[in-house]
Amino acid sequence: MQTLFKNGTLITAEGAYRADLLIADGKIAQIAAQIAPTAATEVVDCTGRWLLPGGVDVHTHFDLPVSGTRSSDDFFSGGRAAAFGGTTTHIDFAIQSKGGTLRAAYEAWRAKAEGRAVIDYGLHMTITDLNETVEAEIAQMRDLGITSLKLLMAYKGSVMVDDATLFRVMQLAAQHDLLVMTHCENGDAIAQLQADFVAQGKVAPRYHALSRPAVLEAEATGRALALAEVAGCALYVVHITCEGAVEALRSARKRGVRAMGETCIQYLYLTAEALDQPDFEGAKYVCSPPLRTAHDVQVLRAALSDGTLQVLSTDHCPFWFAGGVEGRLAGKELGRDAFTKIPNGVPSVEERLKLSAGLLEASRWVAVNCTQPARIFGLYPRKGALVIGADADLVIWNPQKEGVISARTHHMQVDYSIFEGLTYRGAPERVYLRGKLIVLGDQWLGEAGQGEYLHRNTSAWL
Ligand SMILES: [Zn+2]
Repeated sequence: MQTLFKNGTLITAEGAYRADLLIADGKIAQIAAQIAPTAATEVVDCTGRWLLPGGVDVHTHFDLPVSGTRSSDDFFSGGRAAAFGGTTTHIDFAIQSKGGTLRAAYEAWRAKAEGRAVIDYGLHMTITDLNETVEAEIAQMRDLGITSLKLLMAYKGSVMVDDATLFRVMQLAAQHDLLVMTHCENGDAIAQLQADFVAQGKVAPRYHALSRPAVLEAEATGRALALAEVAGCALYVVHITCEGAVEALRSARKRGVRAMGETCIQYLYLTAEALDQPDFEGAKYVCSPPLRTAHDVQVLRAALSDGTLQVLSTDHCPFWFAGGVEGRLAGKELGRDAFTKIPNGVPSVEERLKLSAGLLEASRWVAVNCTQPARIFGLYPRKGALVIGADADLVIWNPQKEGVISARTHHMQVDYSIFEGLTYRGAPERVYLRGKLIVLGDQWLGEAGQGEYLHRNTSAWL
């Protein structure tokens, strides 16, 4: 089965050029100025359209158990929503339970995806509890196809690790050539601020942001960078949200630390004022780190353009606003009495490409959404690039198509959109996964279980 895409403009991380592109047996087979179809070739006219590699979202939480509930998108609904937005690969986080093995976490997350995944996926390993068994398992991670280890410096009493654990994992990561990923916030100080607010009766959603000041993210980012520098490991800071953290990363990179960073689409649009909305509506915007200021939004946009940040992801982790009814999982309502009980996370996996298209020059847009995430997380050149032999994960993008984001039309399994009413220009018309057409306009053509697990290679340092 061959499909020929004629007359389109290929957008890559290096630039844009007019070419025809032929796919065969699920791979990109040929790219040339003119390719003549044979009788058996299906031809897709791409006049006025862009061809991009399928998006790679390296930060999602499908089917994530949190206290009292789970995120509302699983590997089927979340993957389908991602595909509608032009994303064909994601990396989710397997999370070690306290006292559990990494192997058990890996198997639990593979089981969630089994028979459900609709786009290709890999896993990071989140370490919450280090002991001798786990240290030995870290040396074996590569055999499971996992080359990145995540640690959280926040969420005290739950998944947070102390500096001793963080530093030891960094040393082991350096030894085994694994990438360390850190959620950087000072969890000790945050836990105290949360307790103070609750004791004062300050329990509304807005106190979520006030209990997690930007300076505590900047401090933890600087600390993680310093520890990584000494341990000699490569570090990737997830969901950077504020100027102080961007500056810490910039200065570490300048002095030669192998450090990289991402931000997420919500931090490029929204600010902490969203949490002030009345009638508990602010809970819709509760995520960690929290939304910041309009100034931070501008700093993050600039950092993504100038290369200080290498990746745009989503940290997609949706919860129903009105959960616990009509067969829904419990959701944000769990925190009506206190902001500390609001499940943390927002829905955004579907909107990343559409909402970042207008913010970045086209090749930079493909770089941060597709190519660089694939390179940093050991998926390149199979994913994230329009090159011969790569998987035929393709997005046919109509740069003129305009629309309005709304919960009424999105495909994420959640009853609200944090981007409700925002307009966009440019959207996917066709999405292919390994040569198979899975999204055609508003039509879903994929099937549960078609997504494959990806064994990842060593990270590149960008
Ligand atoms: Zn996350």
